[in-house]
Amino acid sequence: MVRPGSTLGILGGGQLGRMMAMAAAELGLRTHIYAPEQDSPAFDVAAEHTVASYEDEAALVRFAKAVDVVTYEFENVPSSTAAILSAHAPLAPNARALAVSQDRLVEKTFISDLGIATAPFAAVASEADLAEALSRIGRPAVLKTRRFGYDGKGQTMISPETDPATAYAAIGRAPAILEGFVPFEREVSVIAARTASGGFAAYDLCANEHRNHILDTTRVPASVSGETERQAIAIARTIADALDYVGILAVELFLLMGEGERLVVNEIAPRVHNSGHWTLGGAVTSQFEQHVRAVCGWPLGETARLGRVEMQNLIGDDVEAWERILAEPGAHLHLYGKAEARPGRKMGHVTRIFPEKD
Ligand code: AMP
Repeated sequence: MVRPGSTLGILGGGQLGRMMAMAAAELGLRTHIYAPEQDSPAFDVAAEHTVASYEDEAALVRFAKAVDVVTYEFENVPSSTAAILSAHAPLAPNARALAVSQDRLVEKTFISDLGIATAPFAAVASEADLAEALSRIGRPAVLKTRRFGYDGKGQTMISPETDPATAYAAIGRAPAILEGFVPFEREVSVIAARTASGGFAAYDLCANEHRNHILDTTRVPASVSGETERQAIAIARTIADALDYVGILAVELFLLMGEGERLVVNEIAPRVHNSGHWTLGGAVTSQFEQHVRAVCGWPLGETARLGRVEMQNLIGDDVEAWERILAEPGAHLHLYGKAEARPGRKMGHVTRIFPEKD
């Protein structure tokens, strides 16, 4: 078991690594951040850091030997990197969770094999595959690269008018997945934690709104029926158990209305997640602390909410409102220490907690 005073190694030096490192420090742990970028925001709050590429085997071995457990803040950790690290230190979440969440085709296949609803999907490796997939799935549909897509990047809509060859070119003719368009009412997510011994705790379901394909606002509660909320959490548990998962797992779902509420899984993220930032100040235990507890083999914390919570991302220039937000009673401001507010860049977030509605 990892004890207070031990060192948590974190791969990735962005805001997620930074908030994990701060949570680890509160629990008496030291952190060592490994990231290729010299100006990584997480370096400011960690005891040690290594600047090296994820392919630098010697640096990875040195890092793994210097820490007691390794975790990460992003799912695109190369499998070779995960293999090198896990030869020298425990890695959580495990390499399987990475492999499944890195590839949209593997991910959708894994989820639907568990009996959980996803959009209809098909593998696309050529224009002929795309034509065949479109005739089976129909339009509108969404064509996505299998790997390295995020915040709407690496994907394109195929409407009845779209020329398939143009759509395929738009995603760089990369190995892809075609998904049927899900006419969802809302997007929701489950943030849950699992321990090595099968302990499980989920936060209340989050309702997420996006702006320009980037998460803008998360509201909790999600205002869905109790049964839908139970189903969403059961889905997260099934996925976590099937992966023998350790740490925070995020499951993004589409909520369909119509004849009753229905849930369809979009994707999973094997890490702390932007839609869980509200837990920092808005729940008894933040997702960052919960992740640290799980990867250290410690008991999970209480996930209860402290009120009705809204989390708003500060993207690009939004961050210029920092002084006004500081002056706002009850607003909790979090800034990530990034030097330059480029458009689309997550610079911070603000959490507001309101009394529960009657
Ligand atoms: P993703 O990169 O898979 O998270 O997709 C980014 C966003 O595109 C999602 O948050 C949805 O708003 C939308 N989207 C992705 N897949 C679908 C789908 N199959 N049907 C409808 N909307 C989708």
